[in-house]
Order: sequence, then structure tokens, then C-alpha cells
Amino acid sequence: MKITLERSKCIGCGSCVAVCDRYFEMGDDNLSKIKGGQMAGENMELETADVGCAKEAAEVCPVQTIKIQ
Ligand code: SF4
Repeated sequence: MKITLERSKCIGCGSCVAVCDRYFEMGDDNLSKIKGGQMAGENMELETADVGCAKEAAEVCPVQTIKIQ
């Protein structure tokens, strides 16, 4: 499975980090980053067999910028 984060839409609220610090952290620019993720254009991506709490992060994000595929 793949976690994607469209950073340009992130408003820096920190909710994803609050519910899932396993996969998310705030960057120096105060926008969310995927821990260990790769940049893919404007997005960050991480392939993982176990998305775990990233699903909750996608649910709490107020601008729906986290996707699980
Ligand atoms: S929950 Fe969404 S808007 Fe808030 S910091 Fe995370 S990615 Fe950004």
C-alpha cells in the first residue's frame, strides 16, 4: 500500500502528527512530512505493507491531503 501527502495543500494543523507520529512529523516549514517518505513532484509518498494509524491521519486531516492507496 502507499501513503501519499500533497504538501502544497497542508495547512500545518498538526492533527496527523497527533494521531500518527509513527508516519508523520512536522517539517522545518511547519508543514507535515511522511517519515522516511520520498518526494514525488509536489507530493511525498511511502510504500508500506502496514499503513496502520496513517488511516486515522487521513480521516482527521481537515483538508484531505493524505491519501491511502
Ligand atoms: S492533518 Fe493535514 S493539514 Fe494538518 S498537518 Fe497533517 S497533512 Fe497538514
